[in-house]
Amino acid sequence: MRELGHRRTKRLIVITAMALLALPFALWAIERMNFRPGWNMYSPAQDVQIGAENAAQIEKQMPLLHDAQVVNYVNQLGRKLSVYEPNDQKAYVWQFHVVNTRDINAFALPGGYIFVNRGTIEAAQDESQLAGVIAHEEGHVVMRHGTHMASEMSLIRTPLSILGGFLGASGTLGSSLAQMGLGFGVNSLMLKNSRGIEAQADQVGTYTLYHAGYNPIAMAQFFQILQQKYPQQTMQFFSDHPNPPNRIRAVEAEIPKLGPVKNYVTDSPQFQAIKRRCLSLPAPPPAKKG
Ligand SMILES: [Zn+2]
Repeated sequence: MRELGHRRTKRLIVITAMALLALPFALWAIERMNFRPGWNMYSPAQDVQIGAENAAQIEKQMPLLHDAQVVNYVNQLGRKLSVYEPNDQKAYVWQFHVVNTRDINAFALPGGYIFVNRGTIEAAQDESQLAGVIAHEEGHVVMRHGTHMASEMSLIRTPLSILGGFLGASGTLGSSLAQMGLGFGVNSLMLKNSRGIEAQADQVGTYTLYHAGYNPIAMAQFFQILQQKYPQQTMQFFSDHPNPPNRIRAVEAEIPKLGPVKNYVTDSPQFQAIKRRCLSLPAPPPAKKG
């Protein structure tokens, strides 16, 4: 009996030791859990399809900057960052466009179609700040925020449409199904992102910057500079990417969790050359009303 009890104690010690060893991994797993995209009724392949259709529309509607040097640089930087994105980054296309406007903004469509305004390149002080904006947009892509929101919206609509069917309102169910499918337009995808979604994109952006070797504070730093230096031009940026509460402090709190401080990259001669080029190119076309 004593022998059995002894063996049991020994086993308990082994189990406890194993549990303690597993603890850091468990904590790490919890950290990574934050990067799990929300509920989604679309597949990543459908994200790409939806993104491609909407990108084609946007290319017709928005003035794009067709300068090979600038566009190639933004694509290079964006693709370099995308490699460090958590979650299935290989499923997406990572195609970058530069919108020819001095408004400071950027947006992402599902599937990895990212549009960066010329004004954002001109306002960034160094490469890490531009990388921060791009990494934030890529965060929206890998977290699948566009199709996640569309999924939730269709969930809200369905019961209403079924009710409509019972009431005999012809076409309601059909049109609702069309909205649930691939038929939804750019507007629903570009819906104002909620603050929770912004906080998540900030988190992923910070993570990506760190792993790509950039100072992870650069993204939050750029948002701060925007607010102080360009209060007029950044209204649109912050209405598309609303400030989560304590945005800067939340990002600062994330950084120590990422790992030891590295010898960060902040700038490159290439970025400064591209910024000078943007500033010297002909002025953007006047914005269309509406
Ligand atoms: Zn955002």
